[in-house]
Amino acid sequence: MPSYTAPVKDMQFLLHDVLKVSEADIPGYADLDRSFTEAVFDEAAKVAQDILTPLNVVGDVEGCALENGIVRTPKGFKEAFKTLREGGWMSLDAAPEYGGQGLPYLMHTAVNETFVSANMAFNMYQGLTHGAYSAILVHGTEEQKAKWLPKLVTCEWTGTMNLTEPHCGTDLGLLRTRAEPQADGSYKITGQKIFISAGDHDMAENIVHLVLAKAPGGGEGTKGISLFIVPKFLVNEDGSLGDRNAVSVGKVEHKMGIHGNATCVMNYDGATGYLLGELHKGMRAMFTMMNEARLGVALQGYAVAEAAYQNALAYAKDRLQGRDVTGAKNPNGPADPLIVHPDIRRNLMEQKSFIEGARALTYWGATLIDRYTRTGDAAVEGLVSLMIPVLKGFQTDKGFEMAVQAQQVFGGHGYIEEWGMSQFARDARIAMIYEGANGIQALDLVGRKLAQDGGKHVMAFFEMVKAECKAHEGDERMKGFVEALKTASKQLQQAGMFFMQNGMKNPNAALAGSYDFMHMMGHVCLGLMWTRMAKAAYDALDAGAADRDFYEAKIATGRFYMARQLPACSMHLSRIESGADPVMALAAEAF
Ligand SMILES: Cc1cc2nc3c(=O)[nH]c(=O)nc-3n(C[C@H](O)[C@H](O)[C@H](O)COP(=O)(O)OP(=O)(O)OC[C@H]3O[C@@H](n4cnc5c(N)ncnc54)[C@H](O)[C@@H]3O)c2cc1C
Repeated sequence: MPSYTAPVKDMQFLLHDVLKVSEADIPGYADLDRSFTEAVFDEAAKVAQDILTPLNVVGDVEGCALENGIVRTPKGFKEAFKTLREGGWMSLDAAPEYGGQGLPYLMHTAVNETFVSANMAFNMYQGLTHGAYSAILVHGTEEQKAKWLPKLVTCEWTGTMNLTEPHCGTDLGLLRTRAEPQADGSYKITGQKIFISAGDHDMAENIVHLVLAKAPGGGEGTKGISLFIVPKFLVNEDGSLGDRNAVSVGKVEHKMGIHGNATCVMNYDGATGYLLGELHKGMRAMFTMMNEARLGVALQGYAVAEAAYQNALAYAKDRLQGRDVTGAKNPNGPADPLIVHPDIRRNLMEQKSFIEGARALTYWGATLIDRYTRTGDAAVEGLVSLMIPVLKGFQTDKGFEMAVQAQQVFGGHGYIEEWGMSQFARDARIAMIYEGANGIQALDLVGRKLAQDGGKHVMAFFEMVKAECKAHEGDERMKGFVEALKTASKQLQQAGMFFMQNGMKNPNAALAGSYDFMHMMGHVCLGLMWTRMAKAAYDALDAGAADRDFYEAKIATGRFYMARQLPACSMHLSRIESGADPVMALAAEAF
């Protein structure tokens, strides 16, 4: 069975050496000193390692089953969910007035990483609830907040997001679910939703579905969509549970991975629902929580890859095959361990440098979210909204790729279920699809975000990269980092120029290059993170840090990324500059 150890040291390095959180001028951050965050992470590590990791394979093998209208989760899930609830792990960053602990979103993100690495499918029940909590917190009336939030904060009730319908996935304008207004101000919701994560289960008393539906008078397309709270059980005035609402599970989907999470067809047959936010402004309400939701999926990308990597690394040190061409490393054994071979090293370095870079980018993204939610800084919010499709698209594509590479280290054994490497690859795959398929993230980036607010956020991004390079001018040790980052950033700007010059007369010229642009920007972001991490590691070494190996390994891993991964930007630029023709040359009938 695969194992997992939470990378607390790496997490601490990011928070304190790189992000220097306790010195940051973000409200609430002054309390995040080293000993406090370490204590939280050590406890989270125990939960992840001792409770969630052993249940990962159980969830995969058993899956969820619909029995007499109720979904049963895999053996042990219910008890584990209760343990996490009682330990306060579900409410770390929730608002204290609704029973939360009020910690920064950054702390939720870091703890969440360990839980996702340990058991992604299990953690989704809480993740969806966090999304529902955020939506009601931002868009709910005071009465709605008082009614729904305290139980969502503790996960006594869990939440879901209901967008997708059989004929309507990406194109939500096609949505058919209807909302009929009632005399008492509520609505009757009728329609079918599919692929609803955590749609039903036996771990919570109630399930609070957030459902997109069309109410009369809203017009066609996405403009007419509103958002509704539709509980599984109606809630009485005194907060106790009332009648069962007219919402039921049609079936539990049989799927490639995340078997421990119940992906349900949900039928709404005149179910009672309550408008959340403004009528006909449901899409806007959904969008406000998308930054967090997509950051959460971006995290899934590297968190699953981390668990896969740890197992690949252990296997590479243990499995004896072939000899080191430069001389035997295990002369008394029949062969050397796999890790001596340069191609296995390449594979492991690709995993390691991606995971550590993505972790840095995700934590930094979480600090930006804390900054704008805690200070209202609109410029920071704009920067986050630019970067979110990059994080979601790039990190989940690479996360899956790296989980497959980890599987590759095992050779044929990676393909055999009992080693557990197949589950990592299967679980990681969904993150590329849901919460906006990655092709749509690329369209969002190139079609909307680059030009948003007159392009000022992308300009701010380039200025930030430039400032980072300038800050290390004259530092010989940082030269390799700075030059690689400068080159990649210039190439990214050149790609942006290509879109500006060609996109107006031929929109396909921009759209055909959008996926490459998303990956290119992902590489530049990770290059930026590695530059910051390398500087922090040099500073720690200069200050006489005791654990020199740790910091030297950071620098070497960063150098690998800059030398071997960042040059992918040249290829992406060439593809972008080839325009739409190579992509669109064949007529649809000619395929
Ligand atoms: C396991 C699982 C869990 C899920 N959980 C939830 C959930 O909790 N709640 C929920 O509401 N939904 C959920 N979904 C649904 C998921 O978000 C959708 O599958 C996703 O949004 C894509 O929609 P679709 O499957 O209909 O694909 P389609 O929209 O049909 O798209 C098919 C392909 O075409 C591409 N495409 C579509 N339009 C364009 C375009 N204009 N330009 C370029 N390319 C385009 C897409 O990128 C995609 O690759 C889940 C799905 C799965 C499989």
